[in-house]
Amino acid sequence: MDAMPATELAFRNDAYARNCTARVIGTDDRGIRLDRTVFYPTGGGQPGDIGSLHLDDGRVIAIVDTVKGDGPDDVLHVPTEGSALPAVGMAVTAEIDWARRHRLMRMHTCLHLLCAVVIGDVTGGQVGDGKGRLDFNLPDTQLDKEAITAELNRLIQEDHAVRPRWIADDELAAQPELVRTMSVKPPTGQGRVRLLDIDGVDLQPCGGTHVSRTGEIGPVEVTKIENKGKQNRRINLAFLS
Ligand SMILES: [Zn+2]
Repeated sequence: MDAMPATELAFRNDAYARNCTARVIGTDDRGIRLDRTVFYPTGGGQPGDIGSLHLDDGRVIAIVDTVKGDGPDDVLHVPTEGSALPAVGMAVTAEIDWARRHRLMRMHTCLHLLCAVVIGDVTGGQVGDGKGRLDFNLPDTQLDKEAITAELNRLIQEDHAVRPRWIADDELAAQPELVRTMSVKPPTGQGRVRLLDIDGVDLQPCGGTHVSRTGEIGPVEVTKIENKGKQNRRINLAFLS
């Protein structure tokens, strides 16, 4: 058995990379593996990227989803059903659907702001295309839609810098208050954890893709606050434009 398949995750250091050149390192019935990729695999409430692989021989394979495979750095590019798979070793250009990804990055970053505005443990969430939601463990049923909307838009207009940085596992263990989500534990055990730092606003472990300044999110609104059980408040957001 070979070592666990590993892909260089280009989106980790540069969320704005739209394409990269790569080589096919494997294929199976779940998808296509590359030695490096700009495609984000489904995880942490953010959907996997869609896009295309442009092969050296001129063929184009449409990618309809991206998912995690067998290890922490194993990424599977899921082709349209019935696609002819590329040969191992083939050179490709991997290109994401950037317009969609940018909308996901904007909403994902906005959900971090929501964590700073609403004080309570996050029990779940989902980034969608043009919308998003977080579930909070809160007894308070008096959450004010307009007040939360105003506060989010203020943080967006203040245009705070957004940066990923890394922290050692033991440093994180010493600061448990950094972990805002009860359902999704940060992936420790690799020695370090990636934190997302929104300057002066929010700091928490996150492996997703984000915009580099809050101003890039654009105007948003709270569309609905739902009571999903005694303690569970679901806050739904959407872009205004
Ligand atoms: Zn994030």
